[in-house]
Amino acid sequence: MIEFQQVSKKYTQNVTALSDISLSVGKGELVFLAGPSGAGKSTLLKLIAAMESPTEGSVIVSGHDISRIKTSGLPYLRRNLGLIFQQQRLLADRSVLANVMLPLIVCGASRPDAERRARAALDKVGLLDMANSGPLTLSGGEQQRVAIARAIVNRPQIILADEPTANLDRAAANKVLDALKAFHSVGVTCLISTHDEQFLDTATRVIYLDHGRIIESWRRTAVQEPA
Ligand code: ADP
Ligand code: ADP
Repeated sequence: MIEFQQVSKKYTQNVTALSDISLSVGKGELVFLAGPSGAGKSTLLKLIAAMESPTEGSVIVSGHDISRIKTSGLPYLRRNLGLIFQQQRLLADRSVLANVMLPLIVCGASRPDAERRARAALDKVGLLDMANSGPLTLSGGEQQRVAIARAIVNRPQIILADEPTANLDRAAANKVLDALKAFHSVGVTCLISTHDEQFLDTATRVIYLDHGRIIESWRRTAVQEPA
């Protein structure tokens, strides 16, 4: 579903964000990208979303080499991706429901259909009760779950989340991760970056980056939750 073939990314002559990265992520996998700030996690996610292009190597997403995608093909690629990036803010002057409906309206869905699907998405992240609230009345963790609902409302095949639990306390962070895992459990491929080691305890696949290189990566079968 996602493949990196000897990918390097230099922002400038002196800034190499990624060096010689090769990896492959299968359909339905849940992968954590770990490593300290500046390791290249966010660059790796941006390459998948074609928000940056590789300096060397190829990035293949759902069979398409993203550096060969023409600008006209980008909306099609992005529709298949649910993006949860820190800088993407909710619209403060619209309700939570309207925020989640927006991607569907943009794609031409009718309002009743968009509303039904947005409510279904809010229900999945446990925030249906907040549908009519303004986003700024919600806690940071709740806002992040609204952003997840907005990212998945179009039923993308891939979710990319860049430090989705940053600045959240443990309980709020766990709820955000549970919301992401709920979509993984219905078959969505998920890549989640984090510098928080505690979230890796229950992970089934982790790729550690440091200074733009993969320094460690492992996979294991699902961890049984204690009864
Ligand atoms: P992480 O997400 O692990 O914190 P990043 O991918 O954001 O890492 O950054 C990797 C390296 O690339 C860092 O040294 C960072 O300063 C640099 N970098 C990131 N974005 C840019 C940019 N737009 N221009 C120049 N350098 C950048
Ligand atoms: P239904 O027709 O079963 O009610 P919806 O279209 O209302 O389903 O989808 C329910 C919500 O689940 C959607 O709004 C969407 O946000 C979310 N979702 C996203 N991706 C998937 C997926 N792959 N499988 C199931 N639900 C998904």
